[in-house]
Amino acid sequence: MCGIFGIDGKPDAANFTYLGLYALQHRGQESAGIVSWDGERLHVERGMGHVAELFGAKVLQRLPGTRALGHTRYSTAGTSVIANAQPIVVKTSMGPLGLVHNGNLTNAVKIRNELEAQGAIFQTTSDTEVILHLMARNPREDVVESLMEALEQVRGAYSLLLISEDCLIAARDPYAFRPMVLGNLGGVPCFASETCAFDLLAAEPARELAPGEVMVARGGGFDQVESYRVGETPRPSRCVFEQVYFARPDSRVFGDSVAEGRLAMGAQLAREAPVPADLVVPVPDSGLFAALGYSRESGLPFEFGLIRNHYVGRTFIEPKQSIRHFGVRIKLNPVRELIGGKRVVLVDDSIVRGTTAPKIVKMVRDAGAAEVHVRISCPPTAWPCHYGIDMPTREELVASTHSLEEIRDFLVADSLAYLSLDGMLNCLSGPDESYCTACWNGDYRVPISAEDQRQAELFPIRAEEVDD
Ligand code: SF4
Repeated sequence: MCGIFGIDGKPDAANFTYLGLYALQHRGQESAGIVSWDGERLHVERGMGHVAELFGAKVLQRLPGTRALGHTRYSTAGTSVIANAQPIVVKTSMGPLGLVHNGNLTNAVKIRNELEAQGAIFQTTSDTEVILHLMARNPREDVVESLMEALEQVRGAYSLLLISEDCLIAARDPYAFRPMVLGNLGGVPCFASETCAFDLLAAEPARELAPGEVMVARGGGFDQVESYRVGETPRPSRCVFEQVYFARPDSRVFGDSVAEGRLAMGAQLAREAPVPADLVVPVPDSGLFAALGYSRESGLPFEFGLIRNHYVGRTFIEPKQSIRHFGVRIKLNPVRELIGGKRVVLVDDSIVRGTTAPKIVKMVRDAGAAEVHVRISCPPTAWPCHYGIDMPTREELVASTHSLEEIRDFLVADSLAYLSLDGMLNCLSGPDESYCTACWNGDYRVPISAEDQRQAELFPIRAEEVDD
């Protein structure tokens, strides 16, 4: 869960990178960083917090040059500390390198253990750093060759950008788990996790990187970008959770409009799980488009029966526990006048741990709803993700340990239905087998190494309650 952006051959490249990251803020709010190349050396600025807080005009002035890349981070491997903020910058015999990575490597711990046994010293606990170590141990005249040999050794999910004194490199793993798009900003190549970053810059989305594609920009303009392939090209495993939940609805991901995909999922859910009701209410913002799709298909009116406070960060500190326990109320508040006495279809995108959903159902009931029917626009999430989306362990996923009826009972809902796997995949334009569905059916196409599995169990991604 990270956003990355890079550009090559544009004066004030860091300013464009800042704007790209600003548009990708939803992909990670923990830390952000930018590195630029001014023809003589790399300049890097990183910090904990949001992009807009970290990169004022003075900070951007410290990032000169025509080549830059950046990162917004939400940790899925490694702890949440400044040392793990990206870009990771190192000095090598090939010159200085800066790397940003979206995804999760499934053999990073295994490789790291092997390298440490041979004397390597790591700066971070991030899985990304193993790529730089592999490159540093295998220097080549051309940094592209060194990166490609390193990528041959890592497994799992990566969309990454690498900056050197010679070039900007973009790479996507052979399974194409995470998105990565090439854009054209007036003849200058740029790369981003999602197309919404290009919209802000008025850049044209050109195309997605192909599975296993490595693209190299050497300051020669959009038409001069080179393309290579790394590894074999297995069956792609594009992450459907990007479409269901993670990507911004105004982006195109894996060739599809995210908004249209979510509308279609909501409509399919209405066909699969109709219910007599008075209105459809989304859980904002995650359930908005699916609820609209459900409403259009069912003919039931769509109402904003819950209002979200957009100014609440993840780290709201309750001023004094004795005043009241705020819980989900600090973020959501019902509009009693809209839902009082009504039979409500409450639509959200997913239930992960199941810690928040019962509170929202109770909130809607307490606001006077006569009935609450919960509809979820993806199948039950029963398996953890090893490919870069923040999810708890299997035991903590409510759908892995409870039946549908038990979850309904736990939510205190009048009815509960999830979208079927086939129904969800039918809402996307690619062949069903080209998507990863592991968190719904346990079909892990890239196995996780024993060392990495042990690490994931010992250090679950997050201890605190997350929104679901
Ligand atoms: S397991 Fe789920 S969240 Fe992870 S890559 Fe696959 S579809 Fe996406």
